[in-house]
Amino acid sequence: MDMPDPRAAVLSKKANLVERLQAVLPADAVIHEAQEVLAYECDALTAYRCPPLAAVLPSSTEEVAAVLRICHEEGVPVVPRGSGTSLAGGALPTADSVILGVARLTEVLETDYDNRFIRVQAGRTNLSVTGAVEADDFFYAPDPSSQLACAIAGNIGMNSGGAHCLKYGVTTNNLLGVTAVMMDGTVVEIGGAHLDAGGLDLLGLICGSEGQLALVTEATLRILRKPEGARPVLMGYNSSEVAGRVVSEIIKAGILPVAIEFMDRPCIRATEDFAGAGYPDCEALLIVEVEGSDAEIDAQLGVILQIARKHDPVAIRESESAEESARIWLGRKSAFGAMGQINDYMCLDGTIPVDKLPEVLRRTAEMAAGYGLEVANVFHAGDGNMHPLILFDANAPGELEKCEALGADILRLCVEVGGCLTGEHGVGVEKRDLMSDQFAPEDMEAQMRVKDVFDSAWLLNPAKVFPLAVSAARRAA
Ligand SMILES: Cc1cc2nc3c(=O)[nH]c(=O)nc-3n(C[C@H](O)[C@H](O)[C@H](O)COP(=O)(O)OP(=O)(O)OC[C@H]3O[C@@H](n4cnc5c(N)ncnc54)[C@H](O)[C@@H]3O)c2cc1C
Repeated sequence: MDMPDPRAAVLSKKANLVERLQAVLPADAVIHEAQEVLAYECDALTAYRCPPLAAVLPSSTEEVAAVLRICHEEGVPVVPRGSGTSLAGGALPTADSVILGVARLTEVLETDYDNRFIRVQAGRTNLSVTGAVEADDFFYAPDPSSQLACAIAGNIGMNSGGAHCLKYGVTTNNLLGVTAVMMDGTVVEIGGAHLDAGGLDLLGLICGSEGQLALVTEATLRILRKPEGARPVLMGYNSSEVAGRVVSEIIKAGILPVAIEFMDRPCIRATEDFAGAGYPDCEALLIVEVEGSDAEIDAQLGVILQIARKHDPVAIRESESAEESARIWLGRKSAFGAMGQINDYMCLDGTIPVDKLPEVLRRTAEMAAGYGLEVANVFHAGDGNMHPLILFDANAPGELEKCEALGADILRLCVEVGGCLTGEHGVGVEKRDLMSDQFAPEDMEAQMRVKDVFDSAWLLNPAKVFPLAVSAARRAA
């Protein structure tokens, strides 16, 4: 008796699916040739790759709804994708999935300065939201380092932050409402143009849900007036632990700088070679920026510099001009690119209480030495959001596995000291199997029941966030 060929079943399913998608989208919005779908096989966590069945690029909420309706009927998983800059593998496809990219949803729909909001399509890049309002002296606060490329959709998916989120909060604090499409194609409006909506905080659920609950097509964002002025100060120390202590003392003093950024020697060296920002030769560097009128800036910096000087700095450089401010930020902003020039690296993202910075930096270095690997640190120190970069050679056999094991140990350390597995990059595939280090089975069950409500067949971005075995069992049930 002839056995059925499983590959033939997938291919015939794909042919039927592509035909149905082509019936609701323009021809160039359905990408299905094997060579073309390779463009979607990974996000910025390039260690993991898997080409999808197909990728679609709808241009409206209605087209998104039509695609989801078809995939729902066909039982095909859908992976939402913004610009694919996730460092956690959040937009990584599975072999049986359709990538739904929002790159064609880029319009500004409404700008309201009286009520301080802007409504945009979700594929618009983060930086171009500020770009749309800066001529009128407004800005959108969350500023991921990837802001030139990443989309508001992905920012909402990951509840992204950035250097200036210490003062202004992360995406969830600046998101007022969304238009989203449920897996069965139903379009829903959540939140609005005002600060708070009645009923349960569904917007809070959507923000940071990593494409698990609904597909966001439009977003209403809070915009702010540009501050009168801002001034960064750069401080160099001969120990990472001491720099960590300075950070926690600044926070303890009750001052709220707009940013406190940290870089250690390997990062300083790499960025100096790459960008030549004129950073001092030291073990650890802080950039602290405050905002306001000149008088406000002077008052805040007075307290900050007093704390800084108590700890024997190697260097202190207060900006005296816009050019100098830009130069102080230049190295920090190019740190990831600079590190990428000299090494393969895995960028971790965990959060810890600020007073644990010295301990976590010390223990991270000890753990890295135990694995024979080097770790460089560049991160948002003011809110305890660590980004250890594990340097490794992707071509050396066994190095990736060693790097993953060290990464898991560092993230477990974040949890152990009272922090969290994620800061701003999300769980994705990278940390899904560490979720049980943070959550008891009952906690995870409660979170999965939320997904059940939004997406009962578990078709939206499957195989992310929850441990693989747990989510596979849920999907099969
Ligand atoms: C060099 C570099 C620097 C970075 N710096 C920062 C930083 O400072 N701060 C920070 O927070 N992150 C940073 N990141 C990580 C990344 O840029 C953010 O996570 C970003 O928000 C991802 O946006 P994206 O549009 O690329 O989303 P993608 O990578 O495409 O997707 C991210 C997640 O959102 C989901 N998603 C995408 N679109 C939708 C949608 N329409 N509806 C529902 N869910 C959706 C995806 O399924 C996925 O889970 C950095 C990345 C790089 C490469």
